[in-house]
Amino acid sequence: MVRGEMEEGVIFDIKRFAIHDGPGIRTTVFFKGCPLRCGWCHNPESQGAEPELVVRPSRCQRCSSCLGVCPERALSFSGEGISVDRSRCTRCGTCARACPSQALEIVGRAVTIGDTVGEIVRDVPFYDESGGGATFSGGEPLWQPDFLAAVLRACHERGIHTAVDTCGFAPWETIARVREATDLFLYDLKLMDSGRHAELTGVPNALILENLERLSRLGQTLIVRVAVIPGINDSERELRALGEFVGSLRNPPPVDLLPYHRIGVGKYTRLGRLYRLGEVTPPDEERMAQIVRLFRRYEFPVTVGGEALGDD
Ligand code: SF4
Ligand code: SF4
Repeated sequence: MVRGEMEEGVIFDIKRFAIHDGPGIRTTVFFKGCPLRCGWCHNPESQGAEPELVVRPSRCQRCSSCLGVCPERALSFSGEGISVDRSRCTRCGTCARACPSQALEIVGRAVTIGDTVGEIVRDVPFYDESGGGATFSGGEPLWQPDFLAAVLRACHERGIHTAVDTCGFAPWETIARVREATDLFLYDLKLMDSGRHAELTGVPNALILENLERLSRLGQTLIVRVAVIPGINDSERELRALGEFVGSLRNPPPVDLLPYHRIGVGKYTRLGRLYRLGEVTPPDEERMAQIVRLFRRYEFPVTVGGEALGDD
């Protein structure tokens, strides 16, 4: 029995058999709510702390089941299918329950600690076989510290390896609280220039860098993850500043470079938001190889998407 297992957190997904969120086969729990607003976020549905209505007009069969049940009269048909007036929508979810074709969906749900741990323990045999475990991602898991700490503790009590995928923007006290039950931090760094960091993510980076320094000093197992975004953080100056910083840490952690991709772009439309990055093109293999070569001068291993690139 998990202490306080009826306490709740808000998540938007649980993905089983994940292979890119830490070692081995993992179950990844995606927390809802994040203090940053990165324009390139591929999980924009994770940013707000509250449930959100996702609209997929192309799935709409024009059956009208939703129109009559909306208490706010926020729904109507447009040329493409169903359309929502977001200034009226209260995100109550009534329409989503009435829709037979998932053209309307509420993203984000409250879950108890017991339910979450129950979902994670289903795949213990796969974790044991592959050296995997549970990863807590988002959104920002540290933004729900009580829930996160309780689920981490419950995983550890069951011998399950844990990873926390974080942007690092949290009071040190929060990190210190979850640290002992966290086997691995997947620590995202965005930009070294604090002014541009604030401009592009909504917050400066001083606290993020300070927390990373402290974790490294304490010998915490870390992987620094950097989404490489052309025109945003791939200048020579930015990359060198990042290399110098990570290389200067007490225990320099490995750096995993994640090439920017556009997989999440369509989600912005479905949430009624603007994709602020416009037409940025993903970096090609040659560009990633150049960046890897640049980082080889520092005393830490570099991978791309978790894979080492060969010498070329
Ligand atoms: S979530 Fe509620 S308020 Fe919003 S469109 Fe659906 S039924 Fe109407
Ligand atoms: S209930 Fe679903 S399929 Fe029917 S009109 Fe509404 S959005 Fe379209």
